[in-house]
Amino acid sequence: MFINYYECPCGTAWEDRHSSTVDDDCPSCGTSCSPDESDDADPE
Ligand SMILES: [Zn+2]
Repeated sequence: MFINYYECPCGTAWEDRHSSTVDDDCPSCGTSCSPDESDDADPE
């Protein structure tokens, strides 16, 4: 599991948990963004 950090060109930043470093849609404008950073969110 990864925590992916996104920052859209529109200025919106958000984070989301995924099983891989996938693109996500901006919650503000809907643009598909690649993660700026990813942290390994392994619970162990
Ligand atoms: Zn946006």
